[in-house]
This record gives sequence, structure tokens and C-alpha cells, in this order.
Amino acid sequence: MIVPLDTDPIEIPDTFRAMAFDGDALLRPLTMPMVPPGPDELLLRVSTCGVCRSDLHIFDGDLSPPVLPIVPGHEIVGTVLARGARAHAFRLGERVGAAWLRSTCLHCRWCDSGRENLCRDARFNGLHAHGGYATHARVDARFCVALPESYDDVRVAPLLCAGLIGFRALRAAGDDARRIGIYGFGAAGHLMAQAAIAEGREVFAFTRPGDIDAQSLAMRLGARWAGDSTQPAPQPLDAALLFAPVGALVPKALADVMPGGTVVCAGIHMSDIPSFPYRRLWEERVIRSIANLTRADASGFMAQAARIPFVCETRPFALADANRALGLLREGAVTGAAVLDCSLAP
Ligand SMILES: [Zn+2]
Ligand SMILES: [Zn+2]
Repeated sequence: MIVPLDTDPIEIPDTFRAMAFDGDALLRPLTMPMVPPGPDELLLRVSTCGVCRSDLHIFDGDLSPPVLPIVPGHEIVGTVLARGARAHAFRLGERVGAAWLRSTCLHCRWCDSGRENLCRDARFNGLHAHGGYATHARVDARFCVALPESYDDVRVAPLLCAGLIGFRALRAAGDDARRIGIYGFGAAGHLMAQAAIAEGREVFAFTRPGDIDAQSLAMRLGARWAGDSTQPAPQPLDAALLFAPVGALVPKALADVMPGGTVVCAGIHMSDIPSFPYRRLWEERVIRSIANLTRADASGFMAQAARIPFVCETRPFALADANRALGLLREGAVTGAAVLDCSLAP
């Protein structure tokens, strides 16, 4: 179809291909109708999309899409194919990233105070609107982020959720936290270990019991110590970042942190936290969560990623193999981050 956008009349396909969730146990390859971008939107030709644990929460019913079928995926890397009339922050053909936060109301008390991540009307890519498990994606240009050129399309994808949410979690640990425990050493854990070490902190990596691959990756990246999450910390920690969605790790991490230490729960969903004696929390230990991200997190983290540069341990899958990627992620069988190559239609 020819789209009569104000500035870029351009031919775009009438349909696109995607791996979509329709309430079943597996994603299904579907042909979807193409909707032209609205005034603030970009139409992207998707090149890659990261696979995130939150996508599993959609299958598990922890996150409920309002409309089915829905195309998951919120670590979207693509090039601009068409732009709405007001979406001129990016050029045609430019590579951009779209993350979990799709849009907010832009004028509530949360949006007005630098906490748009908490906006009651926030919408999320891959949940409220089709995401990046697809050949094309329509995204809000005001919430897209420029990507550092030093990363290729595969390596940059995990930065868009694992990196961004991880970055917000690391900031929440406090700038003066020297010894950081990282619980769950997957996509976010291995990126934040590097960020913390680059900031001069010491990293202690706690993995699934017996996950030798993740432990050796942690040591290769410069961790001071790596071991099973059931082991006590070898030294008292200033802060703990929980990337594993395991509620039992909360009292464990509280036991590992010093008085005044902070336990940051970074996941969007977590199994129940077992009860624990008050003395674990006493002495001004803090438990807090991280919800979503802001655009300031996105630009701040991408600037850091351009400087560091991160080793992104990735495992690529064809878009058609999205179910296999999700299955391996669920089993904890992906070291680093799983990334879909969306250049070939499923
Ligand atoms: Zn995510
Ligand atoms: Zn708002």
C-alpha cells in the first residue's frame, strides 16, 4: 500500500509476518495486517529482537495482554521504513531501538516528576501493542532510543531490556555501594556485572546451583567471586541485585547484605517471598523493586554502553525458532541472552 504520510509518502507492504501469542502453549507464525504509522509513530523493519523473561510471563498468565493475538518482543532493533507526520526525531533508514515502555500519558504526576515508568496509563511493547517477534513493528518515536554504533544488531538487542532494567537496578543500589551481589546471572546479570566493575565496584555472582557456565562467564568478566545462590556471600555485601524471579532469594540476599544495605528486586514478576524473621530486615536494610524504565534510563544507559563497551554474550535464533528460544530460556539453558534474527519471515 502507498501511505500518504505528510512528509514521506512511501510504499509499505500490506501485511507482515510474526510469531504471535494467541493463548496457546506455543507461539504461532501468522500473517498480520500492516497498520500505517500514526502521527508520532515509526514503522520499523525489524532486524533483531531480544528474548526476555517477561515474554515467558505472558505464557504463564502473570502478564495479560488485553487483546489476542499479540506479538511479543520488547528489545526491538530495526531501521525506520516510514514515519508519521510528527515522528521526525529519527531519519528514514536510521537504526533505532524500542524497549518495554511504549508510551505514557506524558502529563500525570508520575510523568511530570521524572517517574514516567510508574505512569498509570503506560503502555508496553509486546503486551499492549505488537512487539518485535516480527518482520515489522510500529512503535512510538517519542519512546525510541538511538543505539550505539559500536554494537551490531544482535549484540545491541539485549541492551534494550536486560541492559536498561539492569541499569535502573544498579542505580537503585546506590552510588556508594562497593560490593554488589548479582543473583541470577543471565542477560541482565552479565551486563550489570560489567557496568558495576567499570564503575570500580566489586561483583559477587550468584547463579543457579551448579550452573558452571554462568559462573565461569562471571569470572571471565571480572567478578571477584562466583558461586551457587544457596551459598552465603563470602563477604558482607553493600547491595544485592535480584534478576532471578525467585522470591526465596529475598531473605537470602537480606542475610548477605550489611546493615544499611539494599536488596533490589529487578524482575517484573517474582514467586512469593517466604516469611523471614524481622532481624534480617532490621538495621535499616531496604528491600525495593524496579518497575519498567524511563527514557532517561534509556539514553543514560546507551551512553554508558557506548563508553564501556559491553561484552554481550548472545545466542542467536531464527525468528521461526522463537518457541525453542523461549523453552531454553525457561530451562535456564541459555548462557547470556537469546536474540531472534527477524530478517527472515517465519
Ligand atoms: Zn524484558
Ligand atoms: Zn503519565
